[in-house]
Amino acid sequence: MANQEDLFKKIISHSKEYGYIFPSSEIYDGLSAVYDYGPYGVELKNNIKQYWWKAMTQMHDNIVGIDAAIFMHPKTWKASGHVDAFNDPMIDNKDSKKRYRADVLIEGYMDKLEDKANKEIEKAAKRFENFDAEMYRSTNPRVLEYDNRRKEIAQRLATAMTNADLADMKAIIEELEIACPESGSRNWTEVRQFNLMFSTQIGALAAEDSTIYLRPETAQGIFVNFLNVQKTTRQKLPFGIAQIGKAFRNEIVARQFIFRMREFEQMEMQFFIAPGTEMDWYRHWKEKRMKWHLSLGTPESMLRFHDHENLAHYANAAVDIQFNFPFGFKELEGIHSRTDFDLKQHQELSGKKLMYFDPEQNASYIPYVVETSVGCDRMFLSVMSQAYTEESVPDAKGEDATRIVLKIPAPLAPVKCAILPLVKNKEELTTKAREIYHQLKMSFECQYDDKDAIGRRYRRQDAIGTPFCVTVDFETLEDNQVTIRDRDTLLQERVSIDKVAAIISEKTDLKSLLLKL
Ligand code: ATP
Repeated sequence: MANQEDLFKKIISHSKEYGYIFPSSEIYDGLSAVYDYGPYGVELKNNIKQYWWKAMTQMHDNIVGIDAAIFMHPKTWKASGHVDAFNDPMIDNKDSKKRYRADVLIEGYMDKLEDKANKEIEKAAKRFENFDAEMYRSTNPRVLEYDNRRKEIAQRLATAMTNADLADMKAIIEELEIACPESGSRNWTEVRQFNLMFSTQIGALAAEDSTIYLRPETAQGIFVNFLNVQKTTRQKLPFGIAQIGKAFRNEIVARQFIFRMREFEQMEMQFFIAPGTEMDWYRHWKEKRMKWHLSLGTPESMLRFHDHENLAHYANAAVDIQFNFPFGFKELEGIHSRTDFDLKQHQELSGKKLMYFDPEQNASYIPYVVETSVGCDRMFLSVMSQAYTEESVPDAKGEDATRIVLKIPAPLAPVKCAILPLVKNKEELTTKAREIYHQLKMSFECQYDDKDAIGRRYRRQDAIGTPFCVTVDFETLEDNQVTIRDRDTLLQERVSIDKVAAIISEKTDLKSLLLKL
């Protein structure tokens, strides 16, 4: 665990040092849970978005995109239930004055029980040969006790959340003797509801009805445009609408870097279907979305499904795809069967029909919806936390040195190729290298670098995750060949200059990922 914490700290400082992520308004000591993406960060983020967008829209004839405004008519949020129910239960510790989400405190306790059970299993695994972890989990009394206790608490929390039973949440915290992580004190306030939406005023007059909200999810922009899109693209059910955009939530506890931010970006797709088919489509999208994550080379052991214990007011089934972040398995993406709740609500509050005429059934109905919703920033963090690697390699003098390398999947890497003349003060070399650079930058993101010794330049490119370095040396001037160095294997290959663009394109094009879907 200490190692993982250490790794997380290193990722945060590396992200800052190499222009990936900066704290927002840093010169004013930052703004809590708000971050800016730097020059490499924005490239990586754009590539993640592009991969998602292509996988969703380009690869599906029946999915189209939109880009709806952040501001929406305030009735939107009444209809969606956000005004009345988009709350988190909060609790304050009277001694430390720190504020927490009551459910997160209880979940933290449950995580500890899970850790204890896992430790028992790990210990036993070392003792026995041919160890069957699943069998041990279901039979060992101590592990069973931890697991059952955790399930009991989960059940009780789920019921309390569904019924907004704040008193029971407080009771759970007291019964479990949960202490404030900051002060160790158990001196808690009552649990209160806290609405997560940011509001502001539209127009010059601050009248009561001029309150509008910054959207807390992108989904509603899709719902209110459902018929506009269906009619203009002449789509038939089933069809989907995809959108990437900012969302805002006034999170109570905003820690863990870009995992939980107050301003973040979502990549969402709402799939409109005939009522009664939702469970089939729900399973379909669960599988498809998992495949998308795996296509990036993420090992299966780092991803898992997690069924929701308490369903949101709009859902009849919901699952998270969790990723094993440096702080444990946490939600990366949500897949929800949202029924016809949203469209029905919008139809009722707007008084406008949101029905679809199904020519096959010769009937009109409000479609059901299956949603896939992945946080772009959490995706970014999952890529960074898998990419950050420290390796021991011999330096120029043959002594052990640490190489820090970001092993970002090549098609997502901010810079695909660096062009490096072997030495900087030889004009023939720098001219040739610049010539190659100007050719290659027409095909993908490139950098030309002639500062410092070649070894240092390689390290710099490793640290920003550039998958290929092209080195121009004296032989190049004679045989028109360059060396391509592979970031991950460190293998060097001599190739003719006219082949470089094709070789690197093949390995860095998003197509190489799309082919795996
Ligand atoms: P959590 O339980 O972690 O608060 P959620 O269940 O409220 O998340 P959804 O409403 O399902 O999240 O949003 C869909 C996706 O948007 C999430 O899977 C996550 O990747 C992303 N997301 C949600 N809230 C945030 C946030 N505060 N910062 C960054 N990403 C977020």
